[in-house]
Amino acid sequence: KKIVIALDGYSSCGKSTTAKLVAAELGYAYIDTGAMYRAVTLYFLEHHISFTNPKEIKDALDHIEVEFHYNSKTKRNEVYLNGLNVEDEIRKMYVSDQVSEVSIIAEVRHAMVAQQQKMGKKRGVVMDGRDIGTAVFPDAEVKIFMTADVDTRTKRRQVELLEKKQLVNLDEIRENLLKRDLIDSTRTESPLRRAEDAHLLDTTHMTIDEQVEFVLERVTS
Ligand code: C5P
Repeated sequence: KKIVIALDGYSSCGKSTTAKLVAAELGYAYIDTGAMYRAVTLYFLEHHISFTNPKEIKDALDHIEVEFHYNSKTKRNEVYLNGLNVEDEIRKMYVSDQVSEVSIIAEVRHAMVAQQQKMGKKRGVVMDGRDIGTAVFPDAEVKIFMTADVDTRTKRRQVELLEKKQLVNLDEIRENLLKRDLIDSTRTESPLRRAEDAHLLDTTHMTIDEQVEFVLERVTS
């Protein structure tokens, strides 16, 4: 029987890497919900949408279509904004800087959550984010809450950005992670928090393989 696996947690503690591998192992779809919020943020920035003007926000949301398409070359789901591949653009620092501010907006969350629920309706998905186990799929069969110490997360993030040829110093990365974690965990609309029935996974001293193993063990038990 196909299930929903919810992977929530702090920024850059290995959620997407783990989620991708677990999905591949099980033949499930992987849905990166952070990419959806990032795509909306990119649109808001490109179109100079005021984050506090409800009408502008509503109109913008009516014009935003976020989709995932599988790229057989990179072997991953890539995110598209109104038909355009924005997978690389949304990872840039200027988007990371604003994404948590956009993710606070209730209308944005309602639109994204509804779409995520639709994507996972048939189950057989691994979804990573901040509120999957609490708000998007409170009935997910397996819930994992991931964390790692901030130095580890900062260094991992730097490596990831370097792979995309983006040189960002450690202080700037750390500041961005901490800022997002704070906004994400203190917002009123579905804040980042561990669901009561989520398994805690601290990845500070773990390899990717161990993280994947931890999740798969919870799937089969
Ligand atoms: O997962 P990622 O770090 O790419 O997410 C970027 C941002 O999107 C988070 O810092 C958070 O503000 C927002 N987000 C969210 N809810 C989710 C996934 C991401 O609010 N389910």
